[in-house]
Amino acid sequence: MDFALTDEQLMFLDMFRDFARQEVAPLAEELDRQERPPLETIHKAAALDLLAIPFPEQYDGMNAGLLAYGLLMEELGKVCLATAVTVGAHCTAAMLIAAGGTEEQKQSLLPSLVKGHKIGAYAIVEPDAGSDLSGVATTARLDGNEYVLNGRKSHVVNGDFADLLVVLAQTERGPACFVVDKSSPGLVVGWRNKQMGLRGAAGCTIFLDGCRLAMSNRLGGEEQNGHDIIRRTWPFSRLGVAFACLGIAERGLADSVEFARNRQQFGGPIALKQIIQRYLADMATQIESLRHMAHYTAWLMEQGRSSERDIAMLKLWAGEVATWVINKTVQIHGGMGYIKSFHVERLYRDVRAMAIHEGTAELQRLAVAEDILAAVGVVTAP
Ligand SMILES: Cc1cc2nc3c(=O)[nH]c(=O)nc-3n(C[C@H](O)[C@H](O)[C@H](O)COP(=O)(O)OP(=O)(O)OC[C@H]3O[C@@H](n4cnc5c(N)ncnc54)[C@H](O)[C@@H]3O)c2cc1C
Repeated sequence: MDFALTDEQLMFLDMFRDFARQEVAPLAEELDRQERPPLETIHKAAALDLLAIPFPEQYDGMNAGLLAYGLLMEELGKVCLATAVTVGAHCTAAMLIAAGGTEEQKQSLLPSLVKGHKIGAYAIVEPDAGSDLSGVATTARLDGNEYVLNGRKSHVVNGDFADLLVVLAQTERGPACFVVDKSSPGLVVGWRNKQMGLRGAAGCTIFLDGCRLAMSNRLGGEEQNGHDIIRRTWPFSRLGVAFACLGIAERGLADSVEFARNRQQFGGPIALKQIIQRYLADMATQIESLRHMAHYTAWLMEQGRSSERDIAMLKLWAGEVATWVINKTVQIHGGMGYIKSFHVERLYRDVRAMAIHEGTAELQRLAVAEDILAAVGVVTAP
């Protein structure tokens, strides 16, 4: 077994780290305060081909692998989780097309997304259908040789500036995914959510009001089931979230160490207090367990050997570790961790979404339990 990064991955890591420090970190506080998306960062990332990292060369991708994509998300997560979520939403939209599109659709749609000439979003969840996608009420009705979409989508990250959205809708013959251009008549961008955190990556409400699409906008053609396409994309999107969680957790530990060695109470640095040392030790241990799990899962995925259970366990653990570590980060910072003028308060608000975004912790636990029990013949249902 070789746990070392390759020379190419190390080269990418240096590049991601420089980009995150120089271009992403300086904007993190401003995005949160102004509740605006990191548009300039996305364009700079595109210019450096960072959005192309996980995609095949035949669609203008870098073909650098899933671990390299994870390393990118980790570095972004360290400095600005909202930027990581924005990049993740764009790459997930492209990956939905890669996973479900016909060769013709991939050839025509992917290069502009991979190069970042166009920005993508995915619009799956609705006000009455979140974890349970069978409740999706958006309809896609065939009218001659066009589909007509009607419905409403919620929490769509990048929804207000994306050039292209992948939309889940219900046809008369089952669920399907559609590619919707932002200029399509009947696509109306609603409001940007006022969020607790991740304010630079706020979800939007999108209305589809008699939105007419050519039949060729249906991903994968007439027989492709939309839920299957989404399920095939979950490993990718959840791996990205897991690495972003790793990044913010590492940031929390680094900030906590720095604070603990400088903060003087009772005649010395709080780092010399055993209870603070215990927090630091537990944070570091949890982070290392997540790092190993994330790297191993990326490796399994690259080998085509990952299971739904592997992905669910990773997504679950990533959300748990990141929220636990950042909670302790606030505690170690004491009152400083609770004030708006210091960044730790933002980390706490941002990280809270990680047990909800891309599949809640409860749904991941259900998936793991379902697999454990199925092995002994017990059938469960969500
Ligand atoms: C930061 C962020 C970004 C997002 N980005 C996007 C995006 O770009 N595009 C998009 O389409 N969506 C996006 N979402 C939506 C996200 O996918 C949903 O919020 C998530 O899937 C949960 O759905 P819900 O909010 O409707 O909660 P619900 O499904 O209503 O769940 C509510 C609670 O009930 C629990 N629950 C549900 N079913 C069960 C069950 N069977 N057993 C036990 N507990 C259960 C859940 O775990 C949760 O705790 C985003 C969400 C967040 C927070």
